Amino acid sequence: MNALGRPPFVAATLAAAAAVCGLVLAGPPLLWLALAIPLAYCGLLVAGVMHPRLGMFARVVWRGPRFRPEIALTFDDGPDPTTTPKILATLAAADARATFFVLGAKARRAPQVLREMAAAGHAIGIHGDTHDRRLSLRHPDILAAGLERNLAGVEAATGFRPSLFRPPLGHVSPRTAAAAKRLGLTLVAWSVRSRDGLAATSAAAATRRVLSGLRPGAIVLMHDAAEHGDREPASIAALPAILDEAKRRGLRCVTLPQMQRS
Ligand SMILES: [Zn+2]
Repeated sequence: MNALGRPPFVAATLAAAAAVCGLVLAGPPLLWLALAIPLAYCGLLVAGVMHPRLGMFARVVWRGPRFRPEIALTFDDGPDPTTTPKILATLAAADARATFFVLGAKARRAPQVLREMAAAGHAIGIHGDTHDRRLSLRHPDILAAGLERNLAGVEAATGFRPSLFRPPLGHVSPRTAAAAKRLGLTLVAWSVRSRDGLAATSAAAATRRVLSGLRPGAIVLMHDAAEHGDREPASIAALPAILDEAKRRGLRCVTLPQMQRS
């Protein structure tokens, strides 16, 4: 599932360190290269954090098997007592299942919405206790404590403990990876993003983006609530057309655990 993976990352680390040592020993004419290599290496690290599909610091699930006609619709940043039920009603009308990555603070305010998700057969993962955009930079102990609060909130509302974690913005650092490993969580990213959370994204644009990547094994990133405030994500209006087209293409909407079965 990972396009790059950890071995190349470790090899790049060793190669960069060896090259810098060699250039420093070689003397003044090549010293500028000794500076350029660490800069390029820092760029590689940042790319690894921002593009979880690279799998540089941990295994990240970003698509499912292509041999079954299934897709996984995923919704982040809820639950919201106003917008999430609209998504749930649209999914129910199409007999579709999805996965919700919920925020702990919102879940504690709307536990009945979590119960409705679970009762309808949807999967629930966690997205952090608050939408901390710098979560991947936090100390692993702080990170793990927040995730534990998020897990406990879902468990208190539904009676089960999630095993899936999508970090805010999808950023996966070595610290994110360590905290997820400590809590036994599977990291999840996406293969298609709707960008439905942006104010400039219309329902038509979100639909177009999703449909362009709608193929077997797709994991689609959408939102059932605004990150902050009460603006409706474009996916709420886009979802009926997306579900219709998935059906027309013979693609079944399943939860991530269903998609990952062997
Ligand atoms: Zn989010």
